[in-house]
Amino acid sequence: MSKPTPDVYEQGKGMDAHNQAMREIRSRKEASYDPHEPTRVWLDEDNTPDGVKTSLTIILNTGGCRWARAGGCTMCGYVAESVDGGSVSHEALMDQIDVCLAHEAENADDPAALIKIYTSGSFLDEREVSAESRRAIADTFADRDRMVVESLPDFVDREKIADFTQHGLDTDVAIGLETATDRVRHDCVNKYFDFADFEAACAEAAAADEDAGTDTAAGIKAYLLLKPPFLTESEAVDDMISSIERCAAVEGCHTVSMNPCNVQRYTMVDDLYFEDGYRPPWLWSVAHVLAETADTDAIVVSDPVGHGSDRGPHNCQECDDLVQKAIKDFDLRQDPTVFEQVSCDCELTWETVIERERSFNQPLTR
Ligand code: SF4
Ligand SMILES: [Zn+2]
Repeated sequence: MSKPTPDVYEQGKGMDAHNQAMREIRSRKEASYDPHEPTRVWLDEDNTPDGVKTSLTIILNTGGCRWARAGGCTMCGYVAESVDGGSVSHEALMDQIDVCLAHEAENADDPAALIKIYTSGSFLDEREVSAESRRAIADTFADRDRMVVESLPDFVDREKIADFTQHGLDTDVAIGLETATDRVRHDCVNKYFDFADFEAACAEAAAADEDAGTDTAAGIKAYLLLKPPFLTESEAVDDMISSIERCAAVEGCHTVSMNPCNVQRYTMVDDLYFEDGYRPPWLWSVAHVLAETADTDAIVVSDPVGHGSDRGPHNCQECDDLVQKAIKDFDLRQDPTVFEQVSCDCELTWETVIERERSFNQPLTR
């Protein structure tokens, strides 16, 4: 029986078989990156509880996710982008922030209202980002309107959120929940925590929101994964609809972001895909879920990555750009009628897949 290395803090929580397979897959990669450079940075616009805002998205290079080093999630290849050795100093992290500010100054007329920081791990885990770095980063962005930071639920607490809200920054914690169904999260995604942990994190955010007073808000943005491996298209769609409904019902969770799975290198999904055992979700499934959940009590958005490609969510190639555009429209306006304006012959194929695909014959199409 395999064992994660003894210093891995999640020891005993994951499933040995998945972790062993994922460690073998990840060991095929060889990459190292400069700890003074962010993994990625870009400008965009985003729908927030206060309307559409300009955004600066930062992927900090913090040494990567500890869970990924134990094996990690079946679809996640981000560890291939992290720093060898596993930890990044305060000075190096602040250098990364400087690179991001320079990128923004060069490419935007005004500072972005919304700052989103992802780490391919947990920004609120102090072994990844120290309290000193967290507070310095909060100071740096104190004049913006809103922050989003990514974290696993274990590390969410009201005091850490207060580092941001004390500057009057509305603060959201992005949690990669993936699905509200524990069995799917454990067995298909290989993520160790439970929906109850997510609910506890939402309660911390709700408490931080209360502490912050009436002018400043704190909350949770749940990230869900459409079509983890081993689910058929229809199982994935049904699980997503019920997950969105369950998240929206939790106090403190105001936004759900549905991420259609794409095939990343050095993952179990990649191995399955290579053996014809996995097809990324149809964009019709994304549209269907958004339309079905439009009246839930949360903002529901989706930004399919790699749409139209074989490794990304796709339809028939002919209509991919059109459906992607409708999805982006929906993100900003939350109006399901945008999907009535798109159609294609391949909808019939998608409907057939939804109806006929079973776990023993999937994927029914490519
Ligand atoms: S999805 Fe998140 S928790 Fe899972 S391995 Fe990737 S970075 Fe780690
Ligand atoms: Zn089509």
